[in-house]
Amino acid sequence: MNIHEYQAKQLFEKFGVASPRGIVASTAEEAGKAAREIGGPGLVVKAQVHAGGRGKGTFKNGFKGGVHVVDTPEQAEEIAGQMLGQTLVTHQTGPEGKLVSKVLIAKAVDITKEYYFAILFDRVSSNHAIIASTEGGMNIEEVAEKTPEKITKEFINPALGLQPYQCRKVAASLGLQGPLANQAVKLFSALWNLYLKADCSLVEINPLAITTDGQVVALDAKFNFDDNALYRQKDVTAMRDTTEEDPREVAASEFGLNYIGLDGNIACLVNGAGLAMSTMDIIKFHGGEPANFLDVGGGATKEQVTAAFKIILGDPKVEGILVNIFGGIMDCDIIANGIIAAAKEVSLTIPLVVRLEGNNVEAGKATLAASGLKITSASDLTDAAQKIVAAVKAA
Ligand code: ADP
Ligand code: MG
Repeated sequence: MNIHEYQAKQLFEKFGVASPRGIVASTAEEAGKAAREIGGPGLVVKAQVHAGGRGKGTFKNGFKGGVHVVDTPEQAEEIAGQMLGQTLVTHQTGPEGKLVSKVLIAKAVDITKEYYFAILFDRVSSNHAIIASTEGGMNIEEVAEKTPEKITKEFINPALGLQPYQCRKVAASLGLQGPLANQAVKLFSALWNLYLKADCSLVEINPLAITTDGQVVALDAKFNFDDNALYRQKDVTAMRDTTEEDPREVAASEFGLNYIGLDGNIACLVNGAGLAMSTMDIIKFHGGEPANFLDVGGGATKEQVTAAFKIILGDPKVEGILVNIFGGIMDCDIIANGIIAAAKEVSLTIPLVVRLEGNNVEAGKATLAASGLKITSASDLTDAAQKIVAAVKAA
């Protein structure tokens, strides 16, 4: 799960991470009011979308930039009016862009230098890691590729936590000394505390800035949270903005389905994440393109299977469905009945190939055959993939 920058600021405040004051606004008037409250001169208006690269982005109506530094509250109000209700396209949004329905009005600071700072979960080393660089405000992937020596990596042992010496080491690697280093160390440990307590998997500050009056402040914030920990993060969960998410994934999460939308035309309905991935691989191997990853879980109910069918068919790109179920705990006959009920309820018209295996499979196959529906039965994974790819090509 992700959150907006203005929500990240609320977490910054709670955990004592230094960052310029900001107020969120949904209308130009609200933005004007917020700007007067914060007070000029020196304000920044920032489009609130779940994507980076806003500063260099362009709105579909031609208006340039999702981040504007202005002098007066009047200018802030005017810029907010230009952004709100418009679609911002950045290198992270894809060509369809993202609708801006909120802007953040924040105090602008005079920047001397921008740094990159992130804490993330490093799966390779099974540690948390700090990634920091003097090349802030830029695309960090590009820095990593072209000038890897400008990136500092500091691993944090999860049992020990971030140690003060490590904060000092990172600050020194950024060339910070004296009071600036002290402030940076304080900010790093506050951020670590936040990262840990809020169950983040990523906190990225790009840029972390030094101001002309000698302050170290976080000017941007990108957060990722561990979805498996959301049950104990009520405050964070309340920040979820489903309008920023793929509507198919939102619907799936309501039914406890693990769904990820993809670009192909063959929908997959599978139990088990490993089997779901193998199914996508084998579709691709036989010349098809999967439309989604979908794991209905080990004990899927008829309601879940029906919901899964509806989500799949809600995607206009889908031209065929491959159901691949291994009845380990599940009874194949129950699944067969679920598929039939779902197919009838959604009046299925596109090709459906079903591969069932495992517990009570013969009864399941007989149920499908007796249903009178146009369901193609497959004997194994290869057979299933070949049949659905052929059916979609023929349609
Ligand atoms: P994005 O990464 O989406 O483009 P940022 O929040 O990083 O958005 O803003 C882009 C740039 O705008 C920053 O690199 C910084 O130079 C400038 N900026 C952002 N916030 C402020 C602020 N409060 N005061 C002054 N400049 C800012
Ligand atoms: Mg940024």
